[in-house]
Amino acid sequence: MTETAEITHFINGKFRKDSAPRHAALFDPATGIQSGVLALADVATVDDAVASAKAAFPEWAATPPHVRARVLFRFRDLIEQNMDRLAAIISREHGKIVTDAKGEIQRGLEVVEFACGIPELLKGDFSAQVGRGIEAHSFRQPLGVVAGITPFNFPAMVPMWMFPVALGCGNCFVLKPSERDPTLGVELALLLQQAGLPDGVFNVVHGDAVAVNALLDHPDIAAISFVGSTPVADHVFRRGTGNGKRVQALGGAKNHMVVMPDADLDQAADALIGAAYGSAGERCMAISVAVPVGAETADRLVAKLIERVRALRIGPGSDPANDMGPLITAQHRDKVRGYIDAGVAEGATLLLDGRDFSLPGHENGYFIGASLFDHVTPQMRIYQEEIFGPVLSVVRAANFEEALALVDAHPFGNGTAIFTRDGRTAQDYLHRVQAGMVGINVPIPVPMAFHAFGGWKQSLFGDHHMHGPEGVRFYTRLKTSTSRWPVEPSAGADFLMPTQK
Ligand code: NAD
Repeated sequence: MTETAEITHFINGKFRKDSAPRHAALFDPATGIQSGVLALADVATVDDAVASAKAAFPEWAATPPHVRARVLFRFRDLIEQNMDRLAAIISREHGKIVTDAKGEIQRGLEVVEFACGIPELLKGDFSAQVGRGIEAHSFRQPLGVVAGITPFNFPAMVPMWMFPVALGCGNCFVLKPSERDPTLGVELALLLQQAGLPDGVFNVVHGDAVAVNALLDHPDIAAISFVGSTPVADHVFRRGTGNGKRVQALGGAKNHMVVMPDADLDQAADALIGAAYGSAGERCMAISVAVPVGAETADRLVAKLIERVRALRIGPGSDPANDMGPLITAQHRDKVRGYIDAGVAEGATLLLDGRDFSLPGHENGYFIGASLFDHVTPQMRIYQEEIFGPVLSVVRAANFEEALALVDAHPFGNGTAIFTRDGRTAQDYLHRVQAGMVGINVPIPVPMAFHAFGGWKQSLFGDHHMHGPEGVRFYTRLKTSTSRWPVEPSAGADFLMPTQK
């Protein structure tokens, strides 16, 4: 891509430009060099995308589920065939290591595989003889036009949490990808088209708050799926539901990992390194707080972490030998640096300082080193807020109850983990902790596609988690019929409830 290469919207099977274009610059985070420009949709462009989805809906909804599934089967194969190319695009635009980019495509692919089973998932219920000669059916129907608004950190996986299930259920979709790494949205649209998806069923509009608010206000959009930061999730939920839409809005996170004194500390330390620093900490399921229980556990764990953090290889995402790439933008890198300054000012012990990291040959890239804080307390900003960078905070707890209370008191409740060898402690934690996804000796407990992804508290607004059976419920409405085919002549008006007979 060159500086002038322009990424535009994909509507009704074609690329299209706005009438009065606004643009955002795109940058390669590893070099800081501009890589292209992105068209930012105006309200008219959003209207066109929704109109094309609305026009395509009756035919797509009437297409039998097993025929819709065949498109998804072909799409699945095309993603596999294009895996290397797509991963290279993600790595170049987002900065993550290319192997990590393949991992996110793989996790998205698993949702496509789940959605390939849509005929089975949409099978309804039937009861014979609910009254004499009367039977009842219930089944689920698509909503119409639904929209997905997605964050920068998983440009392939998060859209694929949404649209395979939505399309399988018979809806038409408008995707608004992150304006910081928008190319995957378009690439997925082209692969869907190649798989035989009719034009208009899947559309992509690029943009910022203008496009998002136009989607939230559009009367022809029935439901919104959102993933991003908590303030925007809150806004999307309120404005979307205020306009009568169904909304699931997943927000930010501050995921804690409790390390019990009986845990294998080498395993726990290795798990923490991958979970805290993988993808430079820009994961909603990253562990950003380690909670060792007991002073001796804390001292031993911290010693093991220091050794491992020092060994991390930081460099461009194109080299699979690296562990961690740059952050997404220069502004975000500066924000993460600001959090480290704040932690020092508030009295946390900065054991490893990544602020001044610079990579020879990539001085203008958005790199930052890995940082490790000890003796962090719940009053500090670095504990309360989501940093979304390679910064791990150690908060020491005296015992299990104190550790659990700490996790439960935090406003976010996305994921959490406990490392222990004791089944009873693990079970107790699982049942009592206030978080949506729990790992037991598993640091990043991202649910499989046939379960559902979602947090609690400030990490999710709405009633439905994403994908799995929850996704099918979110993207459909239930219809129940009661039917009778009388053969005898009418006996006149009836004033009894049928079930009384
Ligand atoms: P973000 O909230 O800045 O952006 C998300 C989307 O909202 C983008 O498409 C963006 O264009 C749009 N947007 C941004 N500001 C807006 C505004 N004022 N009004 C309307 N729309 C707006 O998030 P991000 O920085 O792209 O992603 C990182 C955040 O996403 C982190 O907080 C992370 O925890 C969260 N996240 C959560 C999950 C989860 O499953 N809970 C998964 C991935 C990321």
